[in-house]
Amino acid sequence: MNIQTALKKGQSKLRDNNILSAQLDSEILMSKAINKDKKFIILNLNKEIKKKNLSYFNFLISERVKSKPIAHIIKKKDFWKYEFVVNKDVLIPRPDTEVLIEEVLELTKNKNELNILDIGIGSGCILISILKEKKNFIGTGIDISNKSLKISYANSHKLGINNRLRLFKSNIDNFSIGKYDLIISNPPYIKKNNLKCLDKDINFEPKQALDGGFDGLSEMRKVISRSSKLIKRKGYLILEIGFDQKNKVKEILKKEGFYIKKIVKDLSYHDRCIVGIKI
Ligand code: GLN
Repeated sequence: MNIQTALKKGQSKLRDNNILSAQLDSEILMSKAINKDKKFIILNLNKEIKKKNLSYFNFLISERVKSKPIAHIIKKKDFWKYEFVVNKDVLIPRPDTEVLIEEVLELTKNKNELNILDIGIGSGCILISILKEKKNFIGTGIDISNKSLKISYANSHKLGINNRLRLFKSNIDNFSIGKYDLIISNPPYIKKNNLKCLDKDINFEPKQALDGGFDGLSEMRKVISRSSKLIKRKGYLILEIGFDQKNKVKEILKKEGFYIKKIVKDLSYHDRCIVGIKI
């Protein structure tokens, strides 16, 4: 069988199982199965696929049929300008979260040496992307999950910024080390009752990284209140929020002594990021 026929078969199997991005997913999985990039696939559609590669491809397709996310199958995800290692222990980096990076870079364009804290660092995609861009910044990441700290550690090594990042296993309430110029967080903010209504793929991701309690804001409140103690005066707090949480988060921020500087929309024009300044 040639690559093109295998691709088409994979694609229709995915489509028959209601996977929306069937064509793209089939290509990505082919690329993993034969260990070549997309350009190679496009230029070699008529090339015969080796038997063992074909059976690996079919296995990968069968994983995707079960709705296992592509990022989990290929164990990586592109975010910002970099490729991050991911697995089932961390939230898969979302393109919408890149607005936080843009915002931080804009806010710090004239700053040279800053000390940044990431609360709930997960894969490390946010803090590590910032440290890659700003060579004199240093970072601290905390997470309650040891497994996620392992992934962020691996990513910091892979991307060569491990000497500027320290990691702590801690929940937010107990963390009291350091004073920060800038704090970032993408806390779990989905309402508990809505968790089961999300895409099937999301079932494969850690609940701990998504479950924001009854009103979706229980972790957000903790993050904001603790940040208000850990942040320097005039420091920035940059949070990812749910599309309908702007007003409530504004209130919490004001109560904790922050001035609201900006709300930023994501790629789908939903409110996704809020920037507060500690007064
Ligand atoms: N944006 C994520 C989603 O909708 C949620 C991330 C989070 O809870 N922090 O799947």
